[in-house]
Amino acid sequence: MDLIPSKLRQFVAHVGVIPILFFLSAIVTWPILAEMELFERFYYYSRAHEDWDLDELGMLVINLSIALIFSAIYQSRRLKKLVHEREYQRKRAEKNARHDPLTGLMNRRAFETKLEVAGQHLSDADECFIAMVDLDKFKPVNDLYGHAAGDATLRAAAQRLQAEVGEAGAIARLGGDEFAVIFERGLDATQVERIARRLLHTMTQPFDHDGAQIHIGCSIGLMNWSADISGTEALRRADKSLYDAKTQGRNRFAWYDAELDRQSHERAEIQADLKLAIAKDEIEAWFQPIIQIETKTLIGFEVLARWTHHKRGPIEPSVFIEIAEDSGQIGALGLSVLRQACRAASNWDPSLTISFNVSPLQFHDPNLVDQIKEILTQSDFDAHRLTIEVTESSIISDFGVARTKLDALKALGVAVALDDFGTGYSSLASLRQLPFDRIKIDRSFVTNIAGEPQNQKIVTGIMSLAKGLALDVTAEGIESREDLDYLEGLSCSLGQGFLFERAVPAKHVAWLVDEQWSDWAKGPTEITEKVAVLQSKAS
Ligand code: GH3
Ligand code: MG
Repeated sequence: MDLIPSKLRQFVAHVGVIPILFFLSAIVTWPILAEMELFERFYYYSRAHEDWDLDELGMLVINLSIALIFSAIYQSRRLKKLVHEREYQRKRAEKNARHDPLTGLMNRRAFETKLEVAGQHLSDADECFIAMVDLDKFKPVNDLYGHAAGDATLRAAAQRLQAEVGEAGAIARLGGDEFAVIFERGLDATQVERIARRLLHTMTQPFDHDGAQIHIGCSIGLMNWSADISGTEALRRADKSLYDAKTQGRNRFAWYDAELDRQSHERAEIQADLKLAIAKDEIEAWFQPIIQIETKTLIGFEVLARWTHHKRGPIEPSVFIEIAEDSGQIGALGLSVLRQACRAASNWDPSLTISFNVSPLQFHDPNLVDQIKEILTQSDFDAHRLTIEVTESSIISDFGVARTKLDALKALGVAVALDDFGTGYSSLASLRQLPFDRIKIDRSFVTNIAGEPQNQKIVTGIMSLAKGLALDVTAEGIESREDLDYLEGLSCSLGQGFLFERAVPAKHVAWLVDEQWSDWAKGPTEITEKVAVLQSKAS
């Protein structure tokens, strides 16, 4: 029970302690002063000493006292206001530290604390789920309608989220257009999925802002939180499943998949190692022979990137090249491999050429031609011995830009080839408008051509097209003597494939140069023998 009634406390708080104490002491001391006839004595004393002006002094003292009282009242009110203000600021700071100011939801910090607490109380019997929600294509809302509309959409999305989740979970805005929900109230996976479906539906309904209809959507990552992982790990897994939902096409939910997570983890590790491997030239240039079909003589090599990882062993080129493209390292990778290839080839017979693939991303680098020129100069390699191969996807977006670049390469003395012909657009315009020296027929038309009439017709067509345009033709993927004979019959000038040889490291090129290729190109049964010979030579 309160000893001081609340009304009195409020009064004290309102008026202030000092004036009240002053007032109370005045009430108490007044009768005492009166009793002691102090005023009377003072009156006679001042009359007796009129020249001292004691009455005026008294008035001054009284006035000063009154001024002091008012000042005390004023100061005490000011102090009280200050204390109030401080308290308000403290509470606000405390709220801001835990809440997102835009939506009023919990912020990331508060959510992480909540997860930590939830993790401590999780038992094997509990079912706890985390959902991570990210709006789809939200950035264009800011771009098209302005930041204020973006903010309003975020607020409205938070409200829809709250309406769908209700009491079943606690919601936070983690940042940007990303939200998270923790379901601790004994829901099962089916119920969580049901909420996720409702959320997907509601977020695709248009948001109205100043008469504009804003269309977005959302993707949701779901994870079932068992007792054996931390809150941080649980959130990471929910984030991973959100990423999966995004990559699977958005506007969907995805459950956490440990295998996908393992693969991405592996990919992330490879990506991290890739930078160092490129810098140390660990991704090596290997060389696959290109043979003049009519004479069965070696005319050069296609340069291929090969990586033997110090821990993982050989990594498939398709894997590390894609990672290099995604992580913006393809340019550095390509230049490192080309540099190695030119250095190695500058020591070979000058009649041998090298062909090098430039990826679409690398082709669009404005410095590509200068970089190739620099490599040729540094390695003292004759530009006429180099062919740059590009795919149609590199050139199709802008023939004008492609033409400028190919012309610049040709001005250096480099030959240019159109790679993988037949698989992409196979655009006749690209052949007509761009200064190619050669086309390479994709392996999918070449391997087993002797037994596939459809491919025979396509390759025959490509051959007569190339003849008409005075283009040289390389067939890749030759794996049997029959395929080689068929291509020879079509007067295809150059060929490469396992029938001749796979790619080999630079140190093995010397003995390939000395081979009698006409003897080697006998058919698949000889390949095994040949590999055995090569291996014995290598060892
Ligand atoms: P995705 O479909 O892949 O999720 O792409 P997205 O366009 O939704 O963009 P993303 O999720 O990668 O990034 C969210 C964007 O939200 C980035 C930023 O421009 C915008 N954004 C972040 N915070 C705020 C904010 O407080 N207000 C507004 N208006 N926009 C924000
Ligand atoms: Mg988004």
